[in-house]
Amino acid sequence: MIILGIESTAHTFGVGIVKDGKILANAKKTYTTETGGIIPMEAAKHHRENKEEIYFEALSAAGIKEEEIDAIAFSQGPGLAPCLLQGMHFAKELSEKLKKPVVPVNHCIAHLEIGRTTGAKDPVMLYVSGANTQIIAYASGKFRVFGETLDIGIGNFIDTFARYAGIGFPGGPKIEKLALEGKNLIRIPYKVKGMDIALSGILTNLRQKLESEKYNLSDLAFSLQENVFAMITEVSERALAHTGKKELLLGGGVACNKRLQEMCRIMCKERGAKFFCPENNLLQDNGSMIAYTGELLFKNGNFVPFKNIKNLDIAPRQRTDEVEIKYR
Ligand code: AMP
Ligand code: MG
Repeated sequence: MIILGIESTAHTFGVGIVKDGKILANAKKTYTTETGGIIPMEAAKHHRENKEEIYFEALSAAGIKEEEIDAIAFSQGPGLAPCLLQGMHFAKELSEKLKKPVVPVNHCIAHLEIGRTTGAKDPVMLYVSGANTQIIAYASGKFRVFGETLDIGIGNFIDTFARYAGIGFPGGPKIEKLALEGKNLIRIPYKVKGMDIALSGILTNLRQKLESEKYNLSDLAFSLQENVFAMITEVSERALAHTGKKELLLGGGVACNKRLQEMCRIMCKERGAKFFCPENNLLQDNGSMIAYTGELLFKNGNFVPFKNIKNLDIAPRQRTDEVEIKYR
């Protein structure tokens, strides 16, 4: 069985191809800026202009013809509406052309399911991306959110700080590099509230410190990472203890960060849990995870036949724990 997956929730337009659980292609292109943040309409334009190229790149990487595709999966939500629409329109276009069904996929769940390719069977997932920060695990019929940010996502938090510092989007990799040169741990607020975290107050605090010009940027980047990554590692550990699960899986672009990986690895070792971290191309938004999860859904009969795709819509605010899971 061959499933095509389309990802377009935010900055990345990706097309992945999966055959019987094996990734054949993972093509993508990401919208970036030199100084400002992500502008949804601009990102949507980026997707519109690049979709054909990425699609054909994926087909050629997989070495298949489009007629061989059995179903088209797409990221239905959550995400930025203008970006999601580009992905859905493309999925519908292909569905009509190839006369193949469409499989709507929840983006957050796809980040978790792709972890199966690393061996994670029933993990607690620390999902840390631009807009989302959630600790998710499967429990009786749904993926439940055991902890989350109460305000902004951790990637957006880092990117906004980077924007204040004038170093462009995405800020994560730049902050990670700067942090390596940081030497002094500066005191900033540590905000864990039960199983949840809050970041906007910390962002204000960091902004004030940046504007005071009393601190160097490397020290601030270092302190940001040490502080905020400790917060999410702590909450992940509590979710492991609460659910009794023995696996931690990382997901989302922020999980590319080596220091975060190190903290989680140490925590898992200390409590006898297994640690799983997919390669960067599968941590960041990508079409393969959509195709992979699409295959699980398709095999379970969760798809829309091409004759009925008219009523299919995007779901920009879809919650992880709204989605009924029948294949687990
Ligand atoms: P995603 O939406 O899952 O593709 O993740 C995108 C987010 O990951 C952006 O906010 C990036 O700044 C962030 N990111 C990417 N690489 C890193 C890194 N090495 N350290 C921290 N954040 C990162
Ligand atoms: Mg994501």
